[in-house]
Amino acid sequence: MREVALSPESLLDIFRQTGAYLKGHFRLTSGLHSPEYLQCALVLQHPNHAETCGRELAAAIKALTGTSSVDVVVSPAMGGLMIGHEVARAFGVRHIFTERDTDRKMTLRRGFSLQPGERAVVIEDVITTGGSTLEVVELLKAAGAEVVAAGSVIDRSGGKADVSVPRAALVTLNVTAYNPAECPLCEQGLPVVKPGSRPS
Ligand SMILES: [Zn+2]
Repeated sequence: MREVALSPESLLDIFRQTGAYLKGHFRLTSGLHSPEYLQCALVLQHPNHAETCGRELAAAIKALTGTSSVDVVVSPAMGGLMIGHEVARAFGVRHIFTERDTDRKMTLRRGFSLQPGERAVVIEDVITTGGSTLEVVELLKAAGAEVVAAGSVIDRSGGKADVSVPRAALVTLNVTAYNPAECPLCEQGLPVVKPGSRPS
């Protein structure tokens, strides 16, 4: 197995250096409150860091699946775009992305398509529940592709998210999270911030 050059600790150092490791009082997508939040976009805005993360994630997927036989990398927009592109660069294959239509259904647009039997990897920046990745996996399987693995820079599920295919992450976190009714930060009267990409 190839040794991964970027340890979880050195990746978290990159998050600290780029101001992407936020401390405060955050409302997560789950509705729970947390004193910390990793904003991947602030790391991936730097092409050198994005390229490093992509190379390491591709290596982790090769180690996980025992193969580098991949035909296409697919990401859900927006969060997965930069890292998916860089993972595709590392594999030397194309990168396409899915978008939600007006019914919120995940779809391939812009002329993107897959051939039946193509070997696909699904890449996101952050996995929390794995819901978006799972939707992409199902879309690809329905199109006749073979989904060999999924991956993300950050796994906020503590390793628990099940996306129905083997999955790799550069950092797996067990995030401190409080029920709003019992949140010590609420008790201190600190305003809560929604840090993610989705509107509140
Ligand atoms: Zn709170």
